[in-house]
Amino acid sequence: MRQLNRWWLLILLLILPWLPLSGLRAEERLRVVATTTQAADLVRVIGGERAALTALMGSGVDPHLYKPTESDIAAMSAAQVVVYNGLNLEGQFETVFEALGQRAVRTYALSEPVVQAGLIQEETAGVPDPHFWLDPRNWMLAAEGLAEMLAEADAANADFYRANAAAYIKQLETLYEWAAAAMTDESIPETKRVLVTSHDAFQYFGNAFGWRVRGIQGVSTEAEASVSDIQAVAGLVASEGIAAIFVESSVPRATVEAVIAAARARGAEVRLGVRELYSDAMGAPDAFGGTYIEMIVHNVVTILQSFGYAVPPLPESLGIVLPEEFQER
Ligand SMILES: [Zn+2]
Repeated sequence: MRQLNRWWLLILLLILPWLPLSGLRAEERLRVVATTTQAADLVRVIGGERAALTALMGSGVDPHLYKPTESDIAAMSAAQVVVYNGLNLEGQFETVFEALGQRAVRTYALSEPVVQAGLIQEETAGVPDPHFWLDPRNWMLAAEGLAEMLAEADAANADFYRANAAAYIKQLETLYEWAAAAMTDESIPETKRVLVTSHDAFQYFGNAFGWRVRGIQGVSTEAEASVSDIQAVAGLVASEGIAAIFVESSVPRATVEAVIAAARARGAEVRLGVRELYSDAMGAPDAFGGTYIEMIVHNVVTILQSFGYAVPPLPESLGIVLPEEFQER
């Protein structure tokens, strides 16, 4: 028996260097799993062809409520790196992340560098607001942080990841400048810069672009909106004369419709935005809004058009052309 154990130990020692978990061989791609659509997009940008990406959530999926499936858990266990948002956005993943910590899987929260920079807002004392990506300046920090982590996990390609991050951060700067100028144009009275949405995902977005923000539900969609939430927002819409409010692609539209009905009952003239907004999930890969940059452009254009404001031309360096149906209506 003891003899047998010794044989096994010898075999194990011989094959150990060849096991995938023991490290990365030259031609092998880094196995990365990403939870949300925006995390997956950032891995595609920074990891490029060096990363073999498995994306868990699709467009229209609510990360607050999404429960990892068996195949998700298998993919995460077999990964070298798991990239997620953190700050409890993926509320159903906690035990899986704990278990991965016991294995040789690196986990990386994209919120980490934003936390380090002291830029995380709180909904109420002690409850961090996880939607930091909706400020492109925070996404620059996430891009830089992810590049450093991939450089550590795959040192042979460190320069590749860092160069991708540097180029992408330049694009995000251009995106931010365009969006900030568009959202604070002098044609938009400051008192009219109010964004009402399904849930409280847009505080960072509002901060970035100088708009007040009100969600019908809180920062998580786990608690449903109450009748008094709906009446309170309807009161705000009526008293401030807010002309349009917005459904988010990952949240059922019923509460927004209830607010519109309640506000109209108070004599308000309010309608749905011309399109849904992307908050916790990006658009489908083949739709406009299927990348992070397109998602921000999509939201800015949709908000401006819903209130009847002009959309300034997009910087050419973003390489984005608005689809036909987004052209001025
Ligand atoms: Zn959310």
